[in-house]
Amino acid sequence: MYDMPQIRLQDLLSNLDNTEIQEIWEVSYITITSSTAKPHYVAILADATSFCTCMNIINQGMPCRHQYRILLQSDKAVFHMGFIHTRWFESMPSETSRYATIAQGNKTYSIKLLHYIDQIRTGNVYTSTIKKTADKRIEFGSAMSMAKTSVQIAVTEGATGELTGLLTQFIMKY
Ligand SMILES: [Zn+2]
Repeated sequence: MYDMPQIRLQDLLSNLDNTEIQEIWEVSYITITSSTAKPHYVAILADATSFCTCMNIINQGMPCRHQYRILLQSDKAVFHMGFIHTRWFESMPSETSRYATIAQGNKTYSIKLLHYIDQIRTGNVYTSTIKKTADKRIEFGSAMSMAKTSVQIAVTEGATGELTGLLTQFIMKY
């Protein structure tokens, strides 16, 4: 499931100021086994949060293989204990205000919270910002399904000209 991007980069970064984004990396497989294989994007934000379009860190509560790849590649990328969701700890680490971080192989401690991840993971799931992002994902899915059905009908009925005409009108409108 996480071979496919779960969210568009644009939506992942919506409502973020450009100055909050340090780096964006594209991660793709060396061997493309399928023509539908899409690259993933890992964004490193100012507070050391890193997000990936596979959304593993939100859905599974731990960093994904794409983020680990960027950890090896970028000197801006930091491993932060806060990446691991608290549900994976058998007992909470005693010093909850200090997080172990590893940057460039060096372990240090930080009191910095991961503002962006915490915002999505905690009870704040229904803040208007997050809700808007989630709604966009749902909208994207249902619009795509409608588009696929339309193409199938157009091809079956020999009406692709009509469909592309309608779509061209729509595109020109915006
Ligand atoms: Zn990923």
